[in-house]
Amino acid sequence: MLSKVVIANRGEIALRILRACREMGIRIVAVHSSADRDLKHVRLADESVCIGSPPSANSYLNIPAVISAAEVTDAVAIHPGYGFLSENADFAEQVEKSGFIFIGPRPETIRLMGDKVSAIAAMKKAGVPCVPGSDGALDEDMDKNLQLAHDISYPVIIKAAGGGGGRGMRVVRSEAALLNAISLTRNEAAAAFGNDQVYMEKFLENPRHIEFQVLADSYGNAIHLGERDCSMQRRHQKMLEEAPAPGLSQKKRHEIGERCAQACRDVGYRGAGTFEFLYDNGEFYFIEMNTRLQVEHPVTEFITGIDIVREQLRIAAGEPLNYKQEDIHFHGHAMECRINAEDPDSFLPSPGIISRYHAPGGPGVRVDTHIYSGYRVPPYYDSMVGKLITHSDSRDSAMARMRMALDEIIIDGIKTNIPIHKSLLRDATFQAGGTNIHYLEKKLGMC
Ligand code: ADP
Repeated sequence: MLSKVVIANRGEIALRILRACREMGIRIVAVHSSADRDLKHVRLADESVCIGSPPSANSYLNIPAVISAAEVTDAVAIHPGYGFLSENADFAEQVEKSGFIFIGPRPETIRLMGDKVSAIAAMKKAGVPCVPGSDGALDEDMDKNLQLAHDISYPVIIKAAGGGGGRGMRVVRSEAALLNAISLTRNEAAAAFGNDQVYMEKFLENPRHIEFQVLADSYGNAIHLGERDCSMQRRHQKMLEEAPAPGLSQKKRHEIGERCAQACRDVGYRGAGTFEFLYDNGEFYFIEMNTRLQVEHPVTEFITGIDIVREQLRIAAGEPLNYKQEDIHFHGHAMECRINAEDPDSFLPSPGIISRYHAPGGPGVRVDTHIYSGYRVPPYYDSMVGKLITHSDSRDSAMARMRMALDEIIIDGIKTNIPIHKSLLRDATFQAGGTNIHYLEKKLGMC
């Protein structure tokens, strides 16, 4: 097994990774910015290294500083968590060139999946269903592009190959707007992502967001752990996730899950990964792959009983997968609410000192958070301060547990989005299940 791991992240996910390492007897190095000395995992780590000043560019995104920290502490591997450097192929490459294990896929796989045009091409080849659209990047032949949009039928969406975080996309509803939209998106993409390639897809009006979790080892074995429904989003940011997806048949689950596992075998995928799909009228359409651990991995852990971070560490150590597909059984229903330090009305960030914190508990309740009474939420990073996850034998019961947990939790001193979750969990339409990606914004009065 790995002897010592650097956790190149912060907040709840750094603590989550620390717990998995400690349970497995792996020593832990926390790297942190000067604003994060009081993070819980920094206090709990075997060693810690301050790698820079608060802005992420100077610390959590500072590749030489992270790698130097691994060198001076004699670590053997680096876990990137999510966000920050987790999907940076250059980082993964430099980690490996410096003689460390990158806990994630091979750099070339990250690169392949990071470019959406090449990712979609690889998925089509592997038989994963994709959104009807252009075959690769659009060229400058405008007559051809007009014909293509006509064949796909409006509305269409123009997307940047290098896009991410919900940026670099433009919906086009009529022929008159197409050519301008292509050149605008192209210019924006060149400026924002350094890559002016754009492609076209059918725009699906009211889809759900359903994603499949996969695990693959270095020996060509790959399995899927079922799906998560992440349709509750605001500005393309997920707020609440659940597993399994309400109403999805076991047959469809295994059909799509197996396609994803096969795609992993085809591209030589290694580690944990997620295939994101739009789900519309009973059909799945691949949109992108995330080559890392996801924020919402705990709902899958609850329904499968598998510790995904432990599997990441085992795979990185060169061990074969512990499970075959037939060993994977799904139990009950799990739900996750992301708790953000933000004003529930204006959505503005609400950093500051947490004057009082009380955790909820009881059967089937998991709390993944780094906060404690007296902790100061810094203004420099993502506003998520924790996740409440509940599990039970049915969706209704998992929701009842979530309502209790939301009523029990106390976070004083800062504002949070807990009131929104409370209202969603009491909303009859949400309770019925299967709402689409626009539902939350409609409910919040944003559309
Ligand atoms: P990003 O990498 O920026 O997150 P994605 O390709 O995952 O980009 O798309 C982000 C979101 O944009 C999706 O979750 C969905 O809400 C919307 N979207 C993307 N492609 C389409 C499409 N073809 N039809 C409808 N909505 C889309």
